[in-house]
Amino acid sequence: MAMVKQSDKLKNVLYDIRGPVLDQAEKMEASGHRILRLNIGNPAPFGFEAPDAVLVDMIKNLPNAQGYSDSRGIYSARTAVVQYYQTRGIMNLDTDDVYLGNGVSELITMTLQALCNTGDEILVPSPDYPLWTASVALSGGTPVHYLCDEENGWNPDLENLESKITSRTKGIVVINPNNPTGAVYSRETLTKIVEIAKKHELILFADEIYEKITYDGAEMINLASLTGEDVLCLTYSGLSKAYRVAGYRSGWLAITGPNWSAESYIEGIKLLANMRMCANVPAQHAIQTALGGYQSINDLILPGGRLKAQRDLAYRKLNDIDGVTCQQADGALYLFPKLDVEKFGIVDDERFALDLLKEQKILLSHGTAFNWGEPDHFRLVTLPAVEMLDTALDRLGEFLSGYHQ
Ligand code: PLP
Repeated sequence: MAMVKQSDKLKNVLYDIRGPVLDQAEKMEASGHRILRLNIGNPAPFGFEAPDAVLVDMIKNLPNAQGYSDSRGIYSARTAVVQYYQTRGIMNLDTDDVYLGNGVSELITMTLQALCNTGDEILVPSPDYPLWTASVALSGGTPVHYLCDEENGWNPDLENLESKITSRTKGIVVINPNNPTGAVYSRETLTKIVEIAKKHELILFADEIYEKITYDGAEMINLASLTGEDVLCLTYSGLSKAYRVAGYRSGWLAITGPNWSAESYIEGIKLLANMRMCANVPAQHAIQTALGGYQSINDLILPGGRLKAQRDLAYRKLNDIDGVTCQQADGALYLFPKLDVEKFGIVDDERFALDLLKEQKILLSHGTAFNWGEPDHFRLVTLPAVEMLDTALDRLGEFLSGYHQ
C-alpha cells in the first residue's frame, strides 16, 4: 500500500507540550524508569479528588444520561452557568448563548473553525496555552503573537498587542488566570484590552478555565463583566481544574455582547455543535452541582491549603537555584521560570528538557512549546505534593549546577 500521509491542514499545527519530550518519557517509563512528571496540569494523578457532590450527582444521573442531549447541552446545566456568571457580574447572558463541550478544548477548536477564513489573524499571547495557536492554525487562520511582559508580572504588553492589529485581525485571546505564567490580570489591564477590542471591532476570546484558582487574595475578574453590549466576548471555562475532573471532559462557552452582529458566526458554531451531536452527557449533569455547591477548591488555595503550599515551595526553591529566576504565580497551576541562557549555554530548550529528563528523570515542558520566542524558560506544574516538588527541585538544582549545552 502507498504511504498514508497526514493532511496539509496539519502543516502548521504544533502541540509540543505533548511532543517529543513526552514520547521520550514514555519510552523511559516503558523500560522501567520512574519519571517525576511535572508537565501536565491534570490534578487527579496527583491525588486531587473531585468534590463528593459532583461524583454523586453524576452517578445518580447516569440512568438519565443515556441518550444524546440538545447539542448545546442540557438546559439545567446551561442555566446554572448563566446564574453563576450573574454572581460574577456578567448580566447579559442568556441560556441559549451557553454551549457545553467536551472540555474547553473542544469549544476552542469549534469556535475557531466556525470563524476563520484563510489568512484571518487571531492575536494569541506569547507565551500561550498552545492549543490556541494550534487551533487557529488548524482553522486556516494565522496566529499572531502579542507579548506578555515578565518584568511587569507577565501582564500583556498592550502597546505590543495593539501594534499587531491589522485589517485581517478578527479577535484577541486572553488567558486569565494564565497558563503558563500564573498571571492574574488587573481590572485596569482588562479594561484596556476591552477598549482596544472596541476600537478595532474585535472579538474577545476569554479562556478563564483557572478562574477559581487564585492565591493570596488575587482578584479574578471575568472579562465579559467589562465588555457590556459593545464587544462580542466568548468566555470559556469548565470543570477540569477547579473541580479536578479533567477526565470527564466538561466545559462551557458563554457568548455575550452584540450577538445580533454575529448571527452568521453563531449559526456556524451551532452547526459544528450539531455535527458532534452533544458533549458527554453524564459530565454535563455535574455542572449544576459543581457551580452551586460548596466550593472545595477554596480549601486548597487558601493559606494552609495544598495548592498554595506547593506553589509557595516551588517558587522559593526555583529562585534559590543559581541561574534561575521566577515570577510568583497569582493563579492557576504553573510557574514559568527563566533560565540564564548565557550561564548554561542554552540554545535549544527542548534539548534542555530532554537532557534533564534523561539525567534526572524529571519531565518539564520547555518554554518554546508555549510559543515563547526564546529558549530561556520552562513550565513547572505545581500539582505534585510538596515532598515530590522538593525532591524534583533539588534534582533540578543539582542538574543545573553542572549543565552547559
Ligand atoms: N485552556 C487552558 C488555559 C488550559 O490550561 C487547558 C488545559 O490545561 C484548557 C484550556 C483545556 O481544558 P479542558 O480540560 O477543559 O479541555
